Amino acid sequence: MAIDDTPSSFFAPWPDRLRHAGLILIAAGLALTALVTLGELPPAPAVVVFALIAAAALVPWRKDAAASRDDVRTVDPVETAAVNAIVAGMPDPAVLLDRAGRVLHLNAAAAQLAPALRKNELAQFALRSPEIVSALREAIATTQPRRATYHDQVPVDRWMELVITPVAVPTRFGGTDKCMLMTFHDLTPLRRVEEMRADFVANASHELRTPLAALSGFIDTLQGPAKDDPKARERFLGIMHTQATRMARLIDDLLSLSRVELSAHVRPDTLVDLVPIIAQVVDGLEPLARERQVEIDVDLPEPPLSIAGDREELLRLFENLIENALKYGASGGRVIVSLMNARSTDGAPEYRILVRDFGPGIAPEHLPRLTERFYRVDVGDSRSQGGTGLGLSLVKHILARHRGRLLIESAPKNGATFTACFPQARLSS
Ligand code: ADP
Repeated sequence: MAIDDTPSSFFAPWPDRLRHAGLILIAAGLALTALVTLGELPPAPAVVVFALIAAAALVPWRKDAAASRDDVRTVDPVETAAVNAIVAGMPDPAVLLDRAGRVLHLNAAAAQLAPALRKNELAQFALRSPEIVSALREAIATTQPRRATYHDQVPVDRWMELVITPVAVPTRFGGTDKCMLMTFHDLTPLRRVEEMRADFVANASHELRTPLAALSGFIDTLQGPAKDDPKARERFLGIMHTQATRMARLIDDLLSLSRVELSAHVRPDTLVDLVPIIAQVVDGLEPLARERQVEIDVDLPEPPLSIAGDREELLRLFENLIENALKYGASGGRVIVSLMNARSTDGAPEYRILVRDFGPGIAPEHLPRLTERFYRVDVGDSRSQGGTGLGLSLVKHILARHRGRLLIESAPKNGATFTACFPQARLSS
């Protein structure tokens, strides 16, 4: 077993032990030399006696339990307080161990992470993950740094990284003692981001592959069996056009999403008026509204309704919300776009633009996930409407960049209301 149970004084460095035993050895040496010089003691027994005294003085006698505990240890008391304060002040869980693996100090985060850790007890008994124990053993055996990652499932599912770094702590006698500093880092957020990125790439390639497969299938058909069939050719070209449009739209949405994400930390600083932007979107969607037999009622106050915003992104945002209302809420026959003056949760004045439809609505279990990329209530329905599943995700990101937020209210059979909230621009800005 690499983690030794022997008291750490056994391992106390020789210079420290010599300093400890120095006086005894000098006194014994002088006394024995005097006795030999006076002829009271022959030289040979004198040498043997000196050797015995030296051995006794240098042997690291086992201290009693209390002394051993106080032995935090030969470490200088002033340094101990400083070391303690540093360990306590570390933001991540941190534990300082002596060279045998006993806990010298631990901070509150470490006590929370591993409640079984106790001062002056072996850390390996409190940290049961096999990865930690073997990293600890190796670090103690080699006094070299070690790293280990491990997966904790209790009390919550999380990925952790343990870093063990040997540190030299000054001792009371002017030497240094090799201790081990264990720090823990929570890798869970990083893992989640990695998983999300992998999911995103898998989803995006799947979404692109589907229309691509359809396109190449039709190309094969047009080159082969349908080569001389003008009627089939016309029909297939129509389908190919729809698929190509879908791919273009998907790529367009992906690029918009990544552009908005890239500039997420830069808040737009141009003053824009929301009323003409919404009017332009409604005009552009009139043909779709006519096709779906939906009437759009716009109920907005007189301009200006100024916010600090990016015109192109706002056009995209309202286009997504109103187009969704026309596509998914068409059965209600009516869409209302209106404005409310309200206050945000922290009391700041905000404009709320409501897009309300009277369609089938959305079941409550879907509401929290609607703004996730590629999330659709009904994939087939979304695809048949030319949807990409990215619209509301884009809306959410655009709003976040504008320091706004999206509210979604809906009840099945009662339509849906999507509300975009924007902080009002201060006139001085
Ligand atoms: P899509 O490109 O599929 O429209 P969105 O991100 O814009 O993607 O919307 C995600 C899903 O939310 C849609 O597929 C649809 O199922 C649902 N949805 C969005 N708006 C409405 C609405 N007004 N009424 C009912 N369902 C809606």
